[in-house]
Amino acid sequence: MRLECIECGGKFKIHERFYTCPKCGGLLEVEFEPSELKRRLDRKRLRAEPPSVWKYHAFIPILDESKIVSLGEGGTPLYRCDRLAREVRVRELYVKFEGANPTGSFKDRGMTVGITKALELGARTVACASTGNTSASLAAYAAKAGLRCVVLLPKGKVARGKLAQTLVYGARTIAIKGNFDQALALVRRICEERKDIYLLNSLNPFRLQGQKSIGFEIADQLGWKVPDRVVVPMGNCANIWAIYKGFFEFDAVGVTKGIPAMMGIQAEGAKPIVDAVKGGLDKFKPVKKPETIATAIRIGNPVNGPKAIRAIRTSRGTAEAVSDKEIIKAQKSMARLEGIGVEPASASTIAGLKKLVRQGAVKRDECVVCVATGCVLKDPEEAMKVAERPRVALSYEEALKKIERV
Ligand SMILES: *Cc1c(COP(=O)(O)O)cnc(C)c1O
Ligand SMILES: [Zn+2]
Repeated sequence: MRLECIECGGKFKIHERFYTCPKCGGLLEVEFEPSELKRRLDRKRLRAEPPSVWKYHAFIPILDESKIVSLGEGGTPLYRCDRLAREVRVRELYVKFEGANPTGSFKDRGMTVGITKALELGARTVACASTGNTSASLAAYAAKAGLRCVVLLPKGKVARGKLAQTLVYGARTIAIKGNFDQALALVRRICEERKDIYLLNSLNPFRLQGQKSIGFEIADQLGWKVPDRVVVPMGNCANIWAIYKGFFEFDAVGVTKGIPAMMGIQAEGAKPIVDAVKGGLDKFKPVKKPETIATAIRIGNPVNGPKAIRAIRTSRGTAEAVSDKEIIKAQKSMARLEGIGVEPASASTIAGLKKLVRQGAVKRDECVVCVATGCVLKDPEEAMKVAERPRVALSYEEALKKIERV
């Protein structure tokens, strides 16, 4: 295995501590030879074990498995959603519920690998910029590993649940004036100055290696079949690429056949990748002031944008944008038709799928998986805003009366 630049093809050793290509600044990716993967793969174990990130360790570039830091991430449910399928109008719909991870989002899949890598590299301090979930996850895994953790957050813009987690897990938390994109630029600069701090934003190619397991698990849970489509919300755009890579590598070693069409969803107020994909462009134009209630995807300049565009193109997928109103409606449908509580960014997948079916871009006889990236408790304020108030009753009679009106 090696690190490879997706722009200039430069190749580097797997344990080099680069975040981007030292030659051209392009994004780095971990590449395996299919023959190497085949050799590492224990097919019997693959069939026998229940899903989890480390079940697929043959595909994860960790050199010293004794250093693995795990909180039991992955192995999340893949719910078959027949009631929701009728509303969305597709034959077979599944929701991969990533809210069931240790800190309530898929970020844990990346952090178990990222923090293990930090230990391999001998780091004592780790850092990230975050809209909230990355910092919650990094703080938890750093605590488990006994590492110091520094996070930069956009002041006043982080959902309460995510902020509470970050603080309770004990991260040194710095709230900056500005949005996520500016926080990321700052922390990148800090990690250039302070070589002792290991950066664990999604630029870090090792985090994505853990997130590939969403693709592995979907195939595993569908009985080693791949769905027609996988719908993913896009913020910094690492996850859609990672999931694509998971399916790509399973296909390369013959565990499954084919790659699903990757469908990327953004919010209307932050949709640089949707514009690029629809315009047939290879480069995207950053959005200066991204806005949406879905804070996890309120990102105007996604660092992994080039990877997302590639994943969508090569898999013959597409991208679509949805309004905050559509997101709220989908959040309610997921909760009330299926009992799946998600934060707004996750609901964008169902909202987007509905739109794509209406447009005819997704056919009604297809099998679709939506990736619900984070749990409803991450953003209780937004959830309370869109639901009814509790009805107050001060006596038995009043309580009865209020029930009758349901
Ligand atoms: C991080 C995150 C996203 C966006 O993922 P990217 O890899 O940045 O595109 C979407 N939803 C939730 C809940 C997240 O935490
Ligand atoms: Zn390069």
